[in-house]
Amino acid sequence: MADQIFDVAIVGAGLVGSSLALALRGTGLSIALIEARPPQALPHDESWDNRIYAISPGSASFLEGLGAWGELPGERIARIEAMAIFGDDGTARLDFNAYEAGLGELAYIVESRALQAVLWRQLAAAREVSLFCPGECAALDIADEAAQLTLRDGRTMAAKLIVAADGARSWVRSQAGIEAHDKDYRQLGVVANFATELPHHGTACQWFQPEGVLAYLPLPGNRISIVWSVQQALANELLQLSAAELCERVTHAGKMQLGKLELITPAAAFPLHLIEPRQLVQPRVALTGDAAHQLHPLAGQGVNLGFGDARELAAVLKARGMRDAGDSLLLRRYERARREEILAMVLATDGLQGLFNNAQPLLGWARNTGLAMTNRFAWVKHQLVKQALGNH
Ligand SMILES: Cc1cc2nc3c(=O)[nH]c(=O)nc-3n(C[C@H](O)[C@H](O)[C@H](O)COP(=O)(O)OP(=O)(O)OC[C@H]3O[C@@H](n4cnc5c(N)ncnc54)[C@H](O)[C@@H]3O)c2cc1C
Repeated sequence: MADQIFDVAIVGAGLVGSSLALALRGTGLSIALIEARPPQALPHDESWDNRIYAISPGSASFLEGLGAWGELPGERIARIEAMAIFGDDGTARLDFNAYEAGLGELAYIVESRALQAVLWRQLAAAREVSLFCPGECAALDIADEAAQLTLRDGRTMAAKLIVAADGARSWVRSQAGIEAHDKDYRQLGVVANFATELPHHGTACQWFQPEGVLAYLPLPGNRISIVWSVQQALANELLQLSAAELCERVTHAGKMQLGKLELITPAAAFPLHLIEPRQLVQPRVALTGDAAHQLHPLAGQGVNLGFGDARELAAVLKARGMRDAGDSLLLRRYERARREEILAMVLATDGLQGLFNNAQPLLGWARNTGLAMTNRFAWVKHQLVKQALGNH
């Protein structure tokens, strides 16, 4: 017999698990949220987080609906108003512009820790959510009627539905026996923040180069955050450089676009994988966020896709009628609703990664010609923008 009984137990209170718990408020469901890491306090200084996210307008409106977006300090959010993408032949270029697309902005840049802190503040006030933190999972037993979760400290709980929001190496996914295809890109995403000599005017830049994909993402003021996806050896080399040497390398790789750079947040690096589970659900289990799909970060869409999962799963559970939260029909409905968008994003990010990470001359011609041609066709660009914005 379990110590406590819930309708839904969410494992992992990262951005996706936290947002799902908040989206389930008011549905009449009791929710357990289990997170292994204790909450991180926000620093009191003016430093900038080197983990930032490009949040689509669709995700921003989801977070707005949760009461979280408006709580973010506005002066620390940057708006991406335009994007310039450069091919690897020195001439091919693709431009996106919010104004041309009839929008206020293409995306927002938000610091990870600030968004996480806002979600956690909302969670602390949510009566329907019981937070188990720090709480590490030790065992999961899935039976017909309910699943039982045992924490390492011996506490037990039963739930009609277990949601995996525990990241790319999901413990829940492996306990449930859901196999996942894991493609190691053998790259690291190097991130760091810089002050820039010239203003960025809200423009994000991305260079597809032989050594990897480099993105300059605007931060408020004359600052940018970079994500540079490169082979492991080069990433390790970049991490060993002095601040001055790193600035020199990033300035040069970004074609002096914003003049000289000055490092304001030290570099860090994250291994890049494509992880695709065989299925998103199985009896009494649903996968969300990186547990359901880990992508190459070149499109900046991982957490946006995760917010889409949270929004959809919450909507399906809200409309459950007399069914219990882990009912197979509801879970299949969730899987059907998410499959297409996830697959499209997997194909787009993996395809682009493969196209530019390839030395074949014919592919080189095709990718640069493709960029230049896309740039000339307003309708194609509009479709690309629509997909990336996550507007529903
Ligand atoms: C370099 C880089 C740049 C990126 N940039 C962007 C971007 O601009 N835009 C974008 O949309 N996405 C971006 N992404 C992707 C984004 O980081 C992820 O998609 C997102 O963080 C996934 O969130 P999540 O909540 O699913 O998982 P996680 O953030 O991994 O959270 C999982 C949580 O579960 C907890 N946990 C794990 N196991 C257990 C357990 N057994 N018990 C209890 N708790 C557990 C962990 O402590 C953690 O808090 C980027 C990724 C990288 C690597």
